[in-house]
Amino acid sequence: MENNILSVENLTVSFDGFKAVNDLSLSIEHNELRVIIGPNGAGKTTLLDIICGKTKPSSGKVLFGGTDLTSKAEHQIVRLGVARKFQTPSTYEDLSVFENFEISIPRGKGVLGSLFFRRDKAVTERVTDIANEVFLYDALHTKAGRLSHGQKQWLEIGMMLIQEPELLLLDEPVAGMSPREREKTAVLLRKISLGNSLIVIEHDMEFVKSIAKKVTVMHQGSLLCDGSIDEVQRNERVIEVYLGA
Ligand code: ADP
Ligand code: MG
Repeated sequence: MENNILSVENLTVSFDGFKAVNDLSLSIEHNELRVIIGPNGAGKTTLLDIICGKTKPSSGKVLFGGTDLTSKAEHQIVRLGVARKFQTPSTYEDLSVFENFEISIPRGKGVLGSLFFRRDKAVTERVTDIANEVFLYDALHTKAGRLSHGQKQWLEIGMMLIQEPELLLLDEPVAGMSPREREKTAVLLRKISLGNSLIVIEHDMEFVKSIAKKVTVMHQGSLLCDGSIDEVQRNERVIEVYLGA
């Protein structure tokens, strides 16, 4: 079996001649939790936009299990097993936590999808399991609009998990969270990585240390370096352009 779930090859995207991502190559292994760091404007969010099909690159490939995602539409990429969480939570504020999970069950996919949203036992069990996993069991019948910022982030992670993706893309998931919420999120992401691959963009170095095995540093659309958290923290270029600031 191919060891990499995702291979980004020589990826470039220009916005009016400005290369937000510039000849970037990287690979993510199965069940890897990769953290991407780098200064503002480094191209981190743009990279996730390209992987999930929101932005089309000028050149290069994004191979996911042998399929080049750059020729696919966003909904096709979701169906292939890539789930994306944006920087700001996008949940349905007027619906309960339960209902938010319920509508995230992909139609026609697997046993749950074929039930057409009937609120029967299988759906309830699945939603309850996910709610437990993302610390929202006690809030199942609370409207999403009433959740704390951190709880909304967890809700959105749960809404990704219920789609049973193979690769999860998370853009600054702990921004605005309390220290306790960050700790719980670190536990959650490590647990998710036992059975899924994740790419997590994050600024908070304490949080990065608590989850990262391998860190990729981006700068000006390119790869500055990658390695263990210790290697990256010792790297002089990284200190110069990012950590030292
Ligand atoms: P990061 O997430 O690392 O902070 P981004 O990927 O958001 O960086 O942005 C990288 C660069 O690309 C920034 O200079 C940003 O202004 C620019 N950029 C991002 N998206 C667009 C767009 N749709 N049009 C023009 N410029 C963009
Ligand atoms: Mg960003």
